[in-house]
Amino acid sequence: MSEYRPKYASIAINTPVDREFCYSVPSELTPVPTVGARVQVEFGTRTEVGVCVGISDELDFKPRGKIKPILRVIDDQPWMSDSLMKLAEFIKEHYATSLGEALTAVLTGELSLQKSRRKISILKLAKSTDFIEAWINENGANNKYEKQAKVLNVLLHVPGEYTVQNIISKLDISSSPIETLIKNGLVEKVVIDAPIVSPIIEGEPDLSVPTLIDQQRDAFNTIVPHVRSRSFRTALLHGITGSGKTEVYLHLIEEALKIGRGSIVLVPEIALTPQMIRVFLQRFPAVAVLHSMMTEAEKRDQKLRLREKEARIVIGPRSAVFAPMDDVGLIVVDEEHEYTYKQENTPRYNARDIAIIRAQIENCPIVLGSATPSLESLHNSQIGKYDYISMPRRIGSSELPFVEVVDLANEMAMQRRYNFLSRALVANVNAALEEKSQTILFLNRRGYTGQMHCNVCGHVMTCGSCSIAMTRHKKINRMLCHYCYSNIPVPVKCPSCYRGDMKSLGVGTEHIEEDIATVFPNAKVVRMDSDTMNKKEDYENVLDSFREGEIDILVGTQMVAKGLDFPNVTVIGIINADSAMHHADFRATEKTFFLLMQVAGRSGRGIKPGKVIIQTFQPKHPIIKYAVNHDYSSFSSFEMQFRKKLAYPPFAKLIRVELSHVKEEVIRENITGIASSLREAFPNRNVVEILGPAPCPIAKIRDKYRYQILIKTKTRGAQSKVREFVKPLREKKVRGVHVVIDVDPLNMM
Ligand code: ADP
Ligand code: ZN
Repeated sequence: MSEYRPKYASIAINTPVDREFCYSVPSELTPVPTVGARVQVEFGTRTEVGVCVGISDELDFKPRGKIKPILRVIDDQPWMSDSLMKLAEFIKEHYATSLGEALTAVLTGELSLQKSRRKISILKLAKSTDFIEAWINENGANNKYEKQAKVLNVLLHVPGEYTVQNIISKLDISSSPIETLIKNGLVEKVVIDAPIVSPIIEGEPDLSVPTLIDQQRDAFNTIVPHVRSRSFRTALLHGITGSGKTEVYLHLIEEALKIGRGSIVLVPEIALTPQMIRVFLQRFPAVAVLHSMMTEAEKRDQKLRLREKEARIVIGPRSAVFAPMDDVGLIVVDEEHEYTYKQENTPRYNARDIAIIRAQIENCPIVLGSATPSLESLHNSQIGKYDYISMPRRIGSSELPFVEVVDLANEMAMQRRYNFLSRALVANVNAALEEKSQTILFLNRRGYTGQMHCNVCGHVMTCGSCSIAMTRHKKINRMLCHYCYSNIPVPVKCPSCYRGDMKSLGVGTEHIEEDIATVFPNAKVVRMDSDTMNKKEDYENVLDSFREGEIDILVGTQMVAKGLDFPNVTVIGIINADSAMHHADFRATEKTFFLLMQVAGRSGRGIKPGKVIIQTFQPKHPIIKYAVNHDYSSFSSFEMQFRKKLAYPPFAKLIRVELSHVKEEVIRENITGIASSLREAFPNRNVVEILGPAPCPIAKIRDKYRYQILIKTKTRGAQSKVREFVKPLREKKVRGVHVVIDVDPLNMM
């Protein structure tokens, strides 16, 4: 008997247009397309990969022309399971995207054609760093070379391997500056093996399973009935750093394995994956890994291991929530409050929220673990939607570090040379050096100094293309824009009033590194930020030598703040706690608090007690006070009150509509129209409140002006009505205006 061959197939394609497209199935086409298989089709003038979402023998509409044929069927067996298809449907509905866009996310990049690309061609600097820096100094200010200088800056300063296409999309430029650089011998193309991220990290098999302590046992006992009965339930596991959350995950995963079910473990960042894998491989022989830095071929390998049930555990950031695993028995979201779970381009999904939906679909429990739960999750546990489990004690004898606050205003008044290294900080670092323990210094800003401003007219040096203050970098001796990487010479006189001198405000990691080297000449200091860490290996090497004790003081940005576990660190210095506090964003307070708690958690993880020094210009700010006392509960009630009063999440839901275009008046025309039609459609402010339109806090990026409308919905169901209303805005592009719809946004800038 011959195989069933449908006449038509309905194909979802990665475009904002919210419908599927009909193609015919030619009689000679093999394999025959099935629902869930990827196919290649002509779409407009391009060839696209889409996913077959339906087959039929008849058309239920009148075709306007000839129906195009499917060109090729890529999969002989569908990659999409039912549950992943349901997740895609959810993303489409909740995040107001098309099914094709949602499926692209679910298939994590497999909607591209290079199936088993093992070689890639990347760009490398063809001359020495000094030569390139000199070239940028000489030519960077000249309009003609500006774009080339940007490319060089990325290759010089931004970690990663870049293909021509990567650079083009990162900088929003054409290929011609790159070609010129290649032609002039400054940059070359190098073919490399696509980086292999081996999932097998040598773990010391350690089969001794620790006995859970009381708080862990309680947590385990609350969750495990749902694992065994295969039922959906969300648990918020609120455990301070070092309270043994990971051990609870491991025990639960083992229970799921006992009944033949697999587990998905989400971590907030790729950088944290190896650490987690190491722990897991000590316990379980086969662990799969999925993340966006892997090549298509590697992802396919890992997915095959999961599909064939060779591995029943998968670890990874964000996109691992879409792992093709059958019979999921447990989902863990570690550090559930982290913003990195939110994808900042379409579809703008939050992997934590998707994970909850997946657990619902799979009939399994989900554990949201955090030392500082998001207010959304806390609220859900307060209203009984989630189980709330608290683990307030650290494992073993390690105590929470002692926190001391230093008033930076006092230090500045001392008029010393190294104002940002306070007396208390210096004394503590000295003590640590003496007893051969280690120090981490954290600062939220890279570069040498903060913004430069005129001491007469107050003019601030901002990027011409982005409305952002530029940062001085000493090594290249230029002002750099951290958004578009354009750069200019460091000014001496004010370019605006021609009278004043340009002064710097604040310090960056480059400056602190230099100061540290002067104040502690015998200490081994390493700086870790995106200027010094060019490759993933750099990062791992530094962490390895830090762990080995070869580094005394580690200075860095966010990179040093994340869940890293170093037992020999006794001193943590937060150089300027205020740098995150002034944002025009209602989440600035929680961001600052989370960061302070997280950085503080890095210290005193071993036997020696730890000390944290928080330097700030606002020592009396409540957030600082809560951080000093490790007092999450006062923080959360303070913040909940504020959110409730102003009707912000978790007491309302948000949708952000952003328009951008090179001409400001074009956006204004468009967005005022949108705002008034929204107000017309949703007149009751107690249900739907419309804020704006207003320029985004960062009003211009890469020469494009940005405006936004913030829509608060205050009752159940209102959000979906608004979503339906705004969804078509992405489909019809009016005069090339770019429209972003961000449902449940985290970033308001
Ligand atoms: P968290 O994830 O909450 O920060 P971890 O799970 O990393 O905490 O636990 C902190 C340390 O305590 C780890 O080194 C871990 O191996 C150890 N640990 C966890 N549970 C136990 C236990 N029941 N007995 C002994 N050591 C434990
Ligand atoms: Zn810029």
